[in-house]
Amino acid sequence: MMRILVTGGVGFIGGNFIHYMLDRYSDIQIVNVDALTYAGEITKHKHIEGNPQYTFVQADISDKQAMDTIFQLYSFDYIVHFAAESHVDRSIADPSIFLQTNVIGTQVLLELAKEYAVEKFMHISTDEVYGELDFATKETFTEQTPLAPNNPYSASKAAADFLVRAYHETYGLPVNIARCSNNYGPYQFVEKLIPLTITRLLKGKKVPIYGNGKQIRDWLHCYDHCSAIDFIIRNGKNGEVYNIGCQNERTNIEVVQQIMKLLEMPEGYIQFVPDRLGHDQRYAINTTKLYNLGWKPSYTFEAGLNETVQWYIEHRDWWEPMMWQKNGRKDRDVRNEE
Ligand code: NAD
Repeated sequence: MMRILVTGGVGFIGGNFIHYMLDRYSDIQIVNVDALTYAGEITKHKHIEGNPQYTFVQADISDKQAMDTIFQLYSFDYIVHFAAESHVDRSIADPSIFLQTNVIGTQVLLELAKEYAVEKFMHISTDEVYGELDFATKETFTEQTPLAPNNPYSASKAAADFLVRAYHETYGLPVNIARCSNNYGPYQFVEKLIPLTITRLLKGKKVPIYGNGKQIRDWLHCYDHCSAIDFIIRNGKNGEVYNIGCQNERTNIEVVQQIMKLLEMPEGYIQFVPDRLGHDQRYAINTTKLYNLGWKPSYTFEAGLNETVQWYIEHRDWWEPMMWQKNGRKDRDVRNEE
């Protein structure tokens, strides 16, 4: 039986990862630790409540005492660490919580992983730690690209990456770091570009686009991300960093236009808004190292986007309450307001 601690498993990718693993393996036990911040929408796990392979514990990963109690109660073979403050706009408005969760929270987990001698600490990072690429080149981020984060979110993730590396180099903690490109798919919180666009269009509202919309992102379906993490846990070489992506570079405006086409919306639903501070212009990820190890993605961007649009059409009950009613929570929704 493989015992896995998943942090941030109520969020978008962590949540999909739990579904992905429970669908495939009967020889695993998952404990999901999540603080249930504004981004944690627990209703996504309704169908696995009561599953004997799954336990949920509400806790803050930066609370050492609470986390120690959890480590005493359950013993873990693997830690898959997703929990983070993840929205760049929010980090620009107030970086402090990003340092608390992304840096201190990661250090608390690393310390406990060391104390309790886990078999692997799988750290979920981002390609944003590499900074940005020039439009004019065909250059891509490799695992050797120096880290050069440009906003408080990516700086906090880079700091966490360095801590993970340091725990491996200093104490011999078995670790892997996965750096993926932008994810999309089911259950993504409505403030991110793809769900924001779909849900606003389904409500007949205009879609805000930063600057000229020519920023390039490299899109990865979250199920491909989950399969890559599962693959790295089992096959990754101790101490190594792996980029995850599938060569789907698109400008933001192209993505929005493709969604408008799928929803058969007429022109006129785009509203250009002032660009984000320190907005990275292009991300593109080189995944040769992971492909050479034997992993391949299964989604094309077109198929994945079509499926995602259908998912949001069929799951209004999941996203509508969080979008406009806010459930009395003032912390909800930066850009997706009425
Ligand atoms: P998310 O914002 O949807 O979910 C984050 C989860 O972490 C939430 O459930 C939240 O409640 C929980 N959390 C936040 N602070 C916590 C704390 N102090 N203690 C315990 N739980 C806490 O994020 P996501 O999009 O699922 O991203 C997951 C990971 O993947 C993050 O580490 C992020 O940096 C990384 N990542 C995401 C993307 C993307 O496109 N979404 C791309 C690259 C990397």
